[in-house]
Amino acid sequence: MSDCVFCCIVAGTAPARIVYSDDHVVAFLDIRPVRPGHTLVITREHITDLAGVSTAVGARLFDAARMVGAALRTSHVAADGVNVLINDGRAAFQTVFHTHIHVIPRHNGDRITLAKGLLVRRDPNADATAQSIRAVIPSD
Ligand code: AMP
Ligand code: ZN
Repeated sequence: MSDCVFCCIVAGTAPARIVYSDDHVVAFLDIRPVRPGHTLVITREHITDLAGVSTAVGARLFDAARMVGAALRTSHVAADGVNVLINDGRAAFQTVFHTHIHVIPRHNGDRITLAKGLLVRRDPNADATAQSIRAVIPSD
């Protein structure tokens, strides 16, 4: 879908700091990260909501989120934990209607709540963050 920013990222016509991609999914840094390393995992196919995701594609999405979560721990992001979440529907704060999983690194004592964290959304070293995550994700 040409008016979907995530489809443009998949097509390479919009910029993104991609940390992982395969035949089914693409993972890239969120442009307004709750924490540095905040990554979105999306389907290559334009699917607006979770209900439209097949079992097979859902498994690939979840597996990529799992890998990204592991990479957030072992990369320079050095997360102590991760929040993995999906906003499905406008009422649940979905703003980009191309379904995606947020993988958000957390650190012991970071004291953010996700609602408050939404206000602190920048990473001054995003290129280095993306490179560090990319480097520890095994290639297909
Ligand atoms: P949601 O509210 O779950 O739909 O989340 C959409 C997310 O996409 C937000 O966290 C945005 O910061 C992020 N986002 C929107 N446009 C872009 C973009 N061009 N590149 C990377 N992240 C984006
Ligand atoms: Zn799309």
